[in-house]
Amino acid sequence: MAIDPGTLLSQAMSHALAYRRALAEDPRPPSADYHEMLERFSRAMPEQGTDAGEVIEALALQAAPGLMPMAGPRFFGWVIGASHPAGVAADWLVSAWGQNTTYHSPTPATAAIEAVAERWLLDLLDLPPGSSIGFSTGATVANAIGLAAARTGVLLGAGWDPNADGLFGAPPVEVLIGADAHSSVFSSLQLIGFGHRRATLVDTDDEGRMLPKALARALGDKPGPKIVIAQAGQINTGAFDPFTEVVALAKAAGAWVHVDGAFGLWARATPGLRHLTAGIEDADSWVADGHKWLQVPYDCGFAIVKDRMIHQRAMTQWSSYLPTIGEGDRVPSAFVPELSRRARGVPVYAVLKTLGRQGVAEMVEHHCTLARQFAEMLAREPGVRVLNTVALNQVIVNFGEGDAKARRAATEAVIARIQKDGVCFAAGAQWREDWVMRLSITSGATTARDIEISAAAIVAAWRAEQLAR
Ligand SMILES: *Cc1c(COP(=O)(O)O)cnc(C)c1O
Repeated sequence: MAIDPGTLLSQAMSHALAYRRALAEDPRPPSADYHEMLERFSRAMPEQGTDAGEVIEALALQAAPGLMPMAGPRFFGWVIGASHPAGVAADWLVSAWGQNTTYHSPTPATAAIEAVAERWLLDLLDLPPGSSIGFSTGATVANAIGLAAARTGVLLGAGWDPNADGLFGAPPVEVLIGADAHSSVFSSLQLIGFGHRRATLVDTDDEGRMLPKALARALGDKPGPKIVIAQAGQINTGAFDPFTEVVALAKAAGAWVHVDGAFGLWARATPGLRHLTAGIEDADSWVADGHKWLQVPYDCGFAIVKDRMIHQRAMTQWSSYLPTIGEGDRVPSAFVPELSRRARGVPVYAVLKTLGRQGVAEMVEHHCTLARQFAEMLAREPGVRVLNTVALNQVIVNFGEGDAKARRAATEAVIARIQKDGVCFAAGAQWREDWVMRLSITSGATTARDIEISAAAIVAAWRAEQLAR
């Protein structure tokens, strides 16, 4: 079957443009749910092929009612970036180029672009120059990479090579983690053979920050290899661990310090928020997402490790057919678990170049200002409570009076109304004894007007819910 790539790509582009225009003007929630969409697409595996143009046309039209406006201006559920147009365009080139960016020498352009993106990120985030960055699918995998490097580092220090000899029979590694760490880190721990139940939870304060006294107590005078996992940006409150104290305590105990900063690490690229990350530079590994606050399209995360050699040792594979590596060469696959891989550094490069240092700082700062305004607008309404100190981009609120159960019912009802009326999107989460509505301001498309419209919609939903009760 003859395929005309020109027609095909133009066709995809016009659907993409129409989608993004509609999204900017009038972001609508999906009109069909998952089961309807499944019904729509479920057919037996086709015996014969179909014209590619027809496939793409049908794909775009059939998917339309089930697309969530995640890249739109009023999507506040979870922590979701808005796929910056520059990143999307660069991503199209990546797909069209089809470069398997495993090694540096066979794909010189994309490997070089990724090497430069690595340097730019270290510069922007002000982390030790010479650190290595693995461009991963997201922060969960980046956490697994960082923790695999940590495992390699601390066990080599104890005279055991975990990459060659595994964990059976290895000296036990003590893992200490803040009690309000993201679920993703626990999944990373289980992925690398440390188990999620085995870690020691360190007590936190009201905002979810690790308590240095509790860390000191947990570290005690335990001998042997240790890893302390700290956090920049608690998923509900946006709070940061007190890094200066945490890192000093951990280092005094000989521990490797790993920081999950999936979205919070971007505070470091922002003069007005940088103080929140003081001391973070003395950790050993860090994680940030590209596809959240930086607005790079999915999927993109960064595993940053101070000791390049340890990072490579935890990830690299060798085979006779792979090209030789020269002194100073950066091999893209040496810092991630995959061999064949997408040129994931290219959209990062394009977004960083488009925004510049100033653009990144302004965007992050603007989102934090919007988050404070959002919180203030909501808190003015009787029966609405903001439960966190809005120091970053996360706002948690709940609704109603009475006990936790009654408040949960009210909060869930307001969330359901908001999701149904579709002006904005918010979702729920558990925070301490409360079920909350969590609003995350991370979309590059969001303006002050979007915040006003959304706050009004949430207040209206709460009033309607009170009338209905
Ligand atoms: C989103 C998030 C993660 C997981 O990142 P993914 O990119 O979704 O895998 C980890 N930690 C924190 C704090 C997050 O917000």
